[in-house]
Amino acid sequence: MVKVYYNQDINGSLEGKKIAIIGYGSQGHAHAQNLKDTGHDVVVGIRKGKSWDQAEQDGLEVATVKEASEVADIIMVLLPDERQTAVYEAEIKPALTAGKSLVFAHGFNVHFNQIVPPSDVDVFLVAPKGPGHLVRRTFESGAGVPALFAVYQDVSGQATDTALAYAKGIGSARAGVLETTFKEETETDLFGEQAVLCGGLTSLVKAGFETLVEAGYQPELAYFECLHELKLIVDLMYEDGMSGMRYSISDTAQWGDFVSGPRVVDADTKARMKDILTDIQTGKFAKGWLLENQLNRPEFSAIERQEEEHQIEKVGRELRSMMPFVKAGKKENQKEVVS
Ligand code: NDP
Ligand code: MG
Ligand code: MG
Repeated sequence: MVKVYYNQDINGSLEGKKIAIIGYGSQGHAHAQNLKDTGHDVVVGIRKGKSWDQAEQDGLEVATVKEASEVADIIMVLLPDERQTAVYEAEIKPALTAGKSLVFAHGFNVHFNQIVPPSDVDVFLVAPKGPGHLVRRTFESGAGVPALFAVYQDVSGQATDTALAYAKGIGSARAGVLETTFKEETETDLFGEQAVLCGGLTSLVKAGFETLVEAGYQPELAYFECLHELKLIVDLMYEDGMSGMRYSISDTAQWGDFVSGPRVVDADTKARMKDILTDIQTGKFAKGWLLENQLNRPEFSAIERQEEEHQIEKVGRELRSMMPFVKAGKKENQKEVVS
């Protein structure tokens, strides 16, 4: 089995190093606060606005991206992927002097050639395999979200130790840290979110909901059946795998799982998953997404509007307003993103 690093395996430290967390969104707030709580010297680099105010309110040292990059030894870039290149060129690169570390939580921009780091800095990634808000929430409860790390460029000879110490600092080594490459992290992360976690899942849920509603069943019931209950099933899989989940459901449900599941996701579905993976590997997906952003997201915005108006969302909003406990633990206005 591949080597999985836990707290006791990690001896490197970030002592004496200043860490700039660039961006204070989903991942940024979690990395900054967790690192501070594990005794590290953190500065948040951000533009004036909502995130700036929030970071200050949370008791963190705050500076502009340029200032934070100048004073830091380790610069962690936690801006949205599609914005990183512009901010990097204008504010980070000029401050990226020899011997510093440039760090990412996703390999996208380096792998797809949008950011080309200078040759005299360490470059690595530490990518938690979970939404930023859970990186913080699990840390606070004494647990952690597993992470991947990858070294792209090791000038100091210390890049692996630094990456592992960083992963430990955000609490990920409580759950397990695995080594990968920028290529593998980027391609598997994009594939996972597109085919299974986000794209595959929302399409599966919508298709199930629509099938029931179009057959004349009540939308509220279809919502509970196809969306709400999903979390309960996924929690069982998370805790105990597929067999553990199947232990808890009825034998009738398990038989239905065995005979009908492969009719929903069949060999054709898998062939299309392979096409999706090919588009990721060839850079076709990345090119489309980068162009979409250059054009101010015409297609993204149109689809987002349509999706928000889908019946399952309207019904869901009403039903969830009657179940305040569903939102317990989730701070208002925070987005939970798997990316
Ligand atoms: P977010 O979209 O949550 O980041 C938003 C933050 O970036 C805000 O603080 C925002 O500030 C700031 N920002 C945006 N534009 C600028 C700018 N021009 N100058 C300064 N600050 C700016 O990002 P994520 O946390 O989702 O993603 C960060 C990285 O982590 C990405 O590489 C992503 O792939 C990776 N990742 C994300 C995961 C997740 O859970 N979301 C999971 C694993 C990896 P403002 O309030 O001013 O707009
Ligand atoms: Mg992602
Ligand atoms: Mg991911």
